[in-house]
Amino acid sequence: MSLDPVLDRIDADLPQAVERLKELLRIPSISTDPAYKADCDMAADWLVADLVAMGFAASKRPTPGHPMVVAHAGGDGPHVLFYGHYDVQPVDPLHLWNRDPFDPQVEDTPKGKVIRGRGTSDDKGQLMTFVEACRAWIAVHGSLPAKMTLFFEGEEESGSPSLVPFMQDNAKELTADIALICDTGLYGDSTPAIITQLRGLLGEEITITGPDKDLHSGMYGGLAMNPARVLARVIAALHDEDGRITVPGFYDGVPDLSNELAAAWDDLRFDEAAFLGDVGLSIPAGEKGRRPLEMIWSRPTCEVNGMWSGYTGDGFKTVLPSQAHAKISFRLVGTQDPLAIRAAFRKMVQDMIPADCSVTFAAHGASAAGQMTTTHPAFAQARRALSDEWPQAAAYVGSGGSIPIAAYFKQILDMDAMLIGFGKNDDQIHSPNEKYDLSSFHKGIRSWARILHAMTQTA
Ligand SMILES: [Zn+2]
Repeated sequence: MSLDPVLDRIDADLPQAVERLKELLRIPSISTDPAYKADCDMAADWLVADLVAMGFAASKRPTPGHPMVVAHAGGDGPHVLFYGHYDVQPVDPLHLWNRDPFDPQVEDTPKGKVIRGRGTSDDKGQLMTFVEACRAWIAVHGSLPAKMTLFFEGEEESGSPSLVPFMQDNAKELTADIALICDTGLYGDSTPAIITQLRGLLGEEITITGPDKDLHSGMYGGLAMNPARVLARVIAALHDEDGRITVPGFYDGVPDLSNELAAAWDDLRFDEAAFLGDVGLSIPAGEKGRRPLEMIWSRPTCEVNGMWSGYTGDGFKTVLPSQAHAKISFRLVGTQDPLAIRAAFRKMVQDMIPADCSVTFAAHGASAAGQMTTTHPAFAQARRALSDEWPQAAAYVGSGGSIPIAAYFKQILDMDAMLIGFGKNDDQIHSPNEKYDLSSFHKGIRSWARILHAMTQTA
């Protein structure tokens, strides 16, 4: 099946595709707020109706939370699953929006046309890039070039409580040759990016207790141990002078950057001065001797996310506090074992606590890093297809964040995932005035049409 008429069809149909996207965007499917439960249902119904009209066998599937949408079409060729989410973030603070977040419109901006509204970039606009690519294939050729399963979630923005059980219960139906995920961004403004690695995440909360009640620092200070002092010592000890993390065994399973990846990342010409300058900084704070991109993509971290003790209100109080607290998270890479690191971290802290103080720990999640299988043929096919569409060649990039769905596909369905998205850094996802560039939407649709073609040509 030839590609060019499909691309032509996408170009000609763009105004209608924008209108369809606006219809979906008008449904306020805020998953975290129970007041919008019926709207989440309505968004799922809208997708089912649209997919059925295109010839998919599509259905809304109940969960204890918001429904999933699952749709199948096509028969021959490789089996491709596509994942996106139809739910959106809340819109507060509403007064910071320039327009009604659920009355989306196309706006002219100095950087080109954008669609403004909640969910435009995260993730309805991105999800619809794939749906529109399918629509164009069907309109031109009467069928899809591959066996296709679409899988849309309605709880991504509220922790995905139903996702793992649903995947386990429907494993056979959802297992395909590869999962495509469209919920990420471009590298810069015009370089399409395929994510090859994601960092894991380990969260720990510690509470150090000294005296059994808050004390007067005049009466007790000097004689009684202050737990805030102990906490400060613990936190200061977590990094050495070179920025390395001192938890024993922490670097077990941390791979060195391959020469190939190092060269590829150097080609990206990451502008660390601009990146840090955007947030009022200028000096990289990671391990000495590492590239800035390594620090955010392929090196593990230890960060203090919160610390408090004693009196933190207005004014002043000469208290010697009974307790000191900190929330600390680790971003993990390679084959670092989150549970082994948790145990080593707790032992290290415990060993630093004076005899008449005590420490308790609370766990906040533990997930290992994800490594995509870039030797899967779909990666090279997608890379070529994306490079044909965009002004820059497609890049393999890391992601400092953690996107659990990619790991679930591997763990539960033994299926590789490929993350490709067309968002931009300034899309303001999760914030007021979210937008999606019209060019991202258009080129995103064309990109998926090309990727489907590339994956089926060589199969
Ligand atoms: Zn998203």
